[in-house]
Amino acid sequence: MKKPNKQVCVIYRGIPASPGVVIAKAFLLDRESIQVTKEKIEENEVTKEILKFKKALSDTKEEVLKIKEKVAKRIDPDHAKIFEAQVMILEDGLINDAVIEKIKQEKSNAEFVYRKVIEQTITTLSASKDEYLRERIMDINAVANRLIYNLLGIKHLTLESINSPVILVAKSLSPGDVVHMKKESILGFATDMGGGTSHVALLAKSMGIPAVVGLKNFFDHIQDKQNIILDGTKGEVVICPDEQTLKEYEKRKKYILQKTVELSELKSLPAETSDGRRIELSANIELPLDVDSAIEYGAEGVGLFRTEYLYIARADFPTEEEQYKAYSEVAQKVYPESVILRTFDLGGDKFDRHTGDLYETNPFLGWRAIRACLDLPEMFKIQLRAMLKASAKKNVKIMFPMISEVGELKRAKAILNEAKEELRRKKIPFDEDIPVGIMVEIPSAALAGDALAKECDFFSIGTNDLIQYTLAVDRGNEKIAYLFQGFHPAVLKLIKQTIDAAHNNGIWAGLCGEMAADPLATPMLVGMGVDELSTSAMAIPEIKKIIRSIEFEDAKKHAQEVLKLSTIEDVKKFLTEDYAKRFGKENKNKLT
Ligand code: PEP
Ligand code: MG
Repeated sequence: MKKPNKQVCVIYRGIPASPGVVIAKAFLLDRESIQVTKEKIEENEVTKEILKFKKALSDTKEEVLKIKEKVAKRIDPDHAKIFEAQVMILEDGLINDAVIEKIKQEKSNAEFVYRKVIEQTITTLSASKDEYLRERIMDINAVANRLIYNLLGIKHLTLESINSPVILVAKSLSPGDVVHMKKESILGFATDMGGGTSHVALLAKSMGIPAVVGLKNFFDHIQDKQNIILDGTKGEVVICPDEQTLKEYEKRKKYILQKTVELSELKSLPAETSDGRRIELSANIELPLDVDSAIEYGAEGVGLFRTEYLYIARADFPTEEEQYKAYSEVAQKVYPESVILRTFDLGGDKFDRHTGDLYETNPFLGWRAIRACLDLPEMFKIQLRAMLKASAKKNVKIMFPMISEVGELKRAKAILNEAKEELRRKKIPFDEDIPVGIMVEIPSAALAGDALAKECDFFSIGTNDLIQYTLAVDRGNEKIAYLFQGFHPAVLKLIKQTIDAAHNNGIWAGLCGEMAADPLATPMLVGMGVDELSTSAMAIPEIKKIIRSIEFEDAKKHAQEVLKLSTIEDVKKFLTEDYAKRFGKENKNKLT
């Protein structure tokens, strides 16, 4: 699409993903539309063009085979089969002969001809009734893009190579992209796709990079190097701000800074209601280096270490020793507080789409988290041994993600026992009584809370996935982001039921989804009896301030009232009015 060349101030609204206001020039990351134009070639250039095409075919095949090998080694041979399909496309005689024939006849450049032939193949496959053939379209697209990049001699841009301060604008980004961002050069980012609890958003939050996602077709309306303001708190991006707008946002930036300083004064105070109910307020982290800022914001330990980021950050499975180092570094830093190490929650949106490593039609319902770990017991045991070794000082807990039923939990515990036995045999010290918990993030787990609670030491409610699976709403899809509603009465009932199941069985229940960072939800969650809240570090001071201002007895009644409501609108209205009563009118300059 041709971009407009206007220099007028326009505000675009998306989904707030990570708070903060930044002002800088836009840097457009255009990975998707490789421009392929038709170019005439001379008769005497035909052979050269065909050779260029053949070389690109063999280079691409080599690349794909390398990825296949990597996946077979690091993940499993079954998943490597995807790449066999891609190699077959590169070896497809019909496609390749058609390209060579057209280069000869039309005397056009190879990339243009190849794109045309591929488009025709895709059109034919799209009309097919055979699902298997239709599914090949993704493979064809992936491999065709790779081949066209090779024909054009273009290398993929890595985000580490951006050195001047910019606001990155892209259609979509993967968690792997965000991990590679340097905070001093990428001041913030805006994407057309994505939801507020997508892993890209969560990662941005924990890295302290302001971000707005779900801007729909913003990318088509902005030009490289245009001045923009990005407000990750409100979820807005302003193109070409005029002087007045710039002044307003500078003021807002200052306000946010000042508020942050005020809230930081709460750092050393406990998260305790006015009548003495103590809530543990801890931090969610993705990488060991996040611990410092968690402590800085006053977290009491780590309530969720998303260990899969050790892999995502390097696209390579970390060894047992490397994992042990990472886990013990966190455990040491938070000591005497504790850290909850969640076993790998890979899959869903957490595989890097740009490397095209794995493809599933429905990844969030697919081979993800504990399912993958139970299928790969040796890899799982490496992680469990590393976690156990880091537990010697008794401040480590292990948590399994995506548990859907008791059998799954028992299988995970059996592998944990094998890992323990191996360490015992080698006389390696670890915490024999290490607490084992589960994420309650699938509705079946919430409904089976009673049985699950008998098999573990704690629950941590993952509202991001619980909302997604209860409401059948993809947490990362901007088109249906309006349906992703944590205040749906069904979600609230599942939360309450989970907390009750935990308490009835003598274990504690925490909550580590994004709802833990929502000030509107805090009195309700405290009133429901939640024992721990774990959230991105930045949100901790504000949540602590709210906890310290409420009375537990009053919060219990408040939660009971909320649970009687039957629509999302009623819940929101009730909570908003309650918040206004407690803290005055809703603060437009709110921090998170
Ligand atoms: C959740 O699902 O709420 C959660 C905390 O886990 P993640 O966001 O990593 O899926
Ligand atoms: Mg989850």
